[in-house]
Parts: sequence; structure tokens; C-alpha cells
Amino acid sequence: MTSLTIEQISKDLGGLPVLRAVSLSLEAGSRLAVVGASGSGKSTLLRLIAGFDRPDSGSVRIDDSLVSDDAVFVPAHRRGIGYVAQDGALFPHLTVAQNIHFGLRGRQRRGHEADAAAELVGLDVRLLKRYPHELSGGQQQRVALARALAPGPRILLLDEPFSALDSGLRNQTRHAVVEAVERTGTTTVLVTHDQAEALSFGQQIAVISGGRIDQAGSPIQVFQNPSSPQTADFLGDAI
Ligand code: ADP
Ligand code: MG
Repeated sequence: MTSLTIEQISKDLGGLPVLRAVSLSLEAGSRLAVVGASGSGKSTLLRLIAGFDRPDSGSVRIDDSLVSDDAVFVPAHRRGIGYVAQDGALFPHLTVAQNIHFGLRGRQRRGHEADAAAELVGLDVRLLKRYPHELSGGQQQRVALARALAPGPRILLLDEPFSALDSGLRNQTRHAVVEAVERTGTTTVLVTHDQAEALSFGQQIAVISGGRIDQAGSPIQVFQNPSSPQTADFLGDAI
């Protein structure tokens, strides 16, 4: 299992500060939910952790290895990270099995991995031969998750993966994700604008606003003792 440590990362985009000295740390095998309004910097934060983009300053550490600072930049494909975007972003011309196999290399590609990954996320293996457009939204998100988990990533990053689903399906899919990452011991960061979702997913919660972490702690700590009126207001919408 793998820990993640982010220290003081800042990033400007289009001449404006998007992240301001963000620090977060995550114990190996645990789940963090970062919650904030639209435009607060959540996707940018995940992109910097993934290595899709480089911070202007600050550092990212995966276990004891530095993957990003002023001098070091380990590219995304060498960080051992799984990533799921809001719409799943499946390849439309590939079957479910081919989508799941896409991230696997060499010896990993023996044919059973798609079955194992599908089972892990509660996806009916009979769907493996289908194409993405033949699946429901919830099934597509499970495929995206299976594809991200199949190579056995050290860290899983989830960018609002449930927000396109209706509420019943959202809860079911979230439970499936929690189960899958608990079974695999995968350290996971979820970002979401949905307060209730953050409180139920995260063992730790961080509230982000205007590119800054307002508060971080256990769901109970954050919910019962919001550190600012803005956080109280924002979390108040969850009940
Ligand atoms: P969230 O995911 O919380 O909605 P984002 O990280 O996508 O927030 O964006 C945070 C802010 O940064 C927004 O104001 C957005 O307009 C701005 N932003 C994001 N990407 C770019 C970019 N490539 N160029 C300029 N501004 C950007
Ligand atoms: Mg976003």
C-alpha cells in the first residue's frame, strides 16, 4: 500500500492562481474526499497529482519517492496512477474487455484480467463483449473504474466519477468503488462538489475553496466543527 504527500503546491493557469499552497497527506490504503464548489481547483489538483501537468511550486511524493518538485518531474505513465474522469472517457470503438485491457502491458495481458477487474467492480462479465454505447451510464463508469484498477495502480484518482448518474445509481456505484478499493488496498483520492458524497466516501475530508484547502480532517470533525462560515455554509447543504 502506498502513501501520498502533497506539500505547498501552487499553480497558475491563464495568468490566474488556481491552486494556492495546497498541502495534503494521505495514509497508505486510505480514502480522501476533496470537496468544493465548481471552479475551486479540484480537477487541477488531480491533474498535478497524476502528472498530466506540472505545479509552479511545491512537491508531490508517492511513498518515499519524490515525483514532482522544482527539479524533478516523473511523467504520468511512470507514477503508477489510475485515473477516472467524470464521463469515464471509454474508447467507443473498443469492447468493454478491450477497454479494460488497454492499460495492461506484456505479461499482464493473459486474458483473465478483464474478468477479474469486472468482478472487482461488480460488473456482469457478460457485458465484456459489448461496446460502451450498449451500456448504461452506471455500467460505463464501472468499466472506467475496472480499466483504472486492472493494472494495480498505487494510487487511484477519481474526478467526480458519479456526478452524471442519477441518485440511486450514484449510491450503488459509490458503494462498489469503496468495496473495490478496500479489497485491493488502493489509496484513493475522490474529488466532488457533492458534500454528502464526500462525507460518505472519505475517511478523511478536505474542503477546497478558491484553490486553497480551508479545512481537513475526519468527516465528523469537519462536519461538526467547520473552520469558517463558508465551510459551514457549504457543508450545510449536505443535510
Ligand atoms: P473544478 O474541477 O473544481 O471545477 P478546475 O480545476 O477545473 O476546478 O478549475 C479551477 C479554475 O481554473 C477555474 O476557474 C477554471 O476556469 C480555471 N482553469 C482550469 N483549467 C484552465 C486552463 N487550462 N486555463 C485557464 N484557466 C483554467
Ligand atoms: Mg472539475
